[in-house]
Amino acid sequence: MINSLMPTYNRSSLSFEEGEGAYLFDSKGKKYLDFMSGIAVSSLGHSHPKLIAELKKAIEKPWHVSNLFTIVDQTKLANKLVENCFAESVFFTNSGAEALECLIKVVRKYFYNINQSDRFRIITFEGAFHGRTLATLAAGGKKNHLEGFGPVVDGFDQIPFGDFEKAKEIINNTSAAFLIEPIQGEGGIREVPEGYLKHLKKLSEDNGMLLCFDEVQCGIGRAGKLFAHQIWDIVPDVMAIAKGLGGGFPIGACLATRKSCQGMIAGTHGSTFGGNPLAMAAANAVLDAIIEDDLISNVDLMGRKLKDSLKKLASKHYTKIEEIRGTGLMLGIKFKLNPDSLVEVLLNRGLLVVGASDNVIRLLPPLVINDSHLKEALDIIDAAISQWGS
Ligand SMILES: *Cc1c(COP(=O)(O)O)cnc(C)c1O
Repeated sequence: MINSLMPTYNRSSLSFEEGEGAYLFDSKGKKYLDFMSGIAVSSLGHSHPKLIAELKKAIEKPWHVSNLFTIVDQTKLANKLVENCFAESVFFTNSGAEALECLIKVVRKYFYNINQSDRFRIITFEGAFHGRTLATLAAGGKKNHLEGFGPVVDGFDQIPFGDFEKAKEIINNTSAAFLIEPIQGEGGIREVPEGYLKHLKKLSEDNGMLLCFDEVQCGIGRAGKLFAHQIWDIVPDVMAIAKGLGGGFPIGACLATRKSCQGMIAGTHGSTFGGNPLAMAAANAVLDAIIEDDLISNVDLMGRKLKDSLKKLASKHYTKIEEIRGTGLMLGIKFKLNPDSLVEVLLNRGLLVVGASDNVIRLLPPLVINDSHLKEALDIIDAAISQWGS
């Protein structure tokens, strides 16, 4: 078959035909334990009965209704999100990058609205990833992602992740907000240092800035709390979420306090597909399952067990592993050498994982995994590391 796809991905020829819980099956029927979840997307695993049932119901009803009308499930989902975090207002998008575009617009419009439109600069952090649109590329600041796509969107300044001093020094009369992932995903499962979110909160308050979190990857139960920032008990003014929210259905959201989104009145923002009935059915089902089945406790318990076992593996393979990072079911194994070829070995042994910057392999299993999945994964990881490079 000729391949007419734009070759922006280094794709494996592997193609998955079926999925069941934490497992995927390729076209030859080979079974894989899925410890990447499509990069933190398939939060309930594959073919979850509740998701299937809710989407089947939705598929018999109108697939699309314009946002010029009331979409009852959209209001329900917004209310559910608001009940469970700092936010008072929600805008639905189709992806993480779009959620961040909305976040950036909320910030700029807030300062415009209070007659301080000179304040539009957002401070971001090295190692960040915020998406592939022009503004989110600028926010992420990654040179190889930006190359050839200039001119770079103005309004973003970057400082080292976790640097207390620089965060303070960089603030001037054009500073509008901080934008940070409480746990960096693509950057290599890097958690903010203790006290850092509190520091940024204080700086934001003292300088009349907005504090913004990108929880596209670390949110929706992944870090052992519904939202990762709840670990540190520091709330933002605006937050972007996506990935795990739809359990595999495309959806994102920008959540804000009423004060910070005061400028977002009728006509200031929009999306044809954002908040569509199918996405709402999926996300309502995901949130209901997370809350009703107490998956957060499962993430916390499984995450602790997995991290402890990985630390033991790290001691055993101390010549190859540098450290174990992360929390909940957002864990990273940092290697001394580039582990790309190890990802291949793991794949051949039936375990799907995904790499990240900084010589890290990410483990992002579905939130529904149990002890037997942990054991299976750990056995494969142990054997693969022994085989790798020997
Ligand atoms: C994946 C990701 C995004 C971008 O989401 P898309 O849905 O790919 O646009 C933004 N921020 C973080 C932290 C992510 O992990």
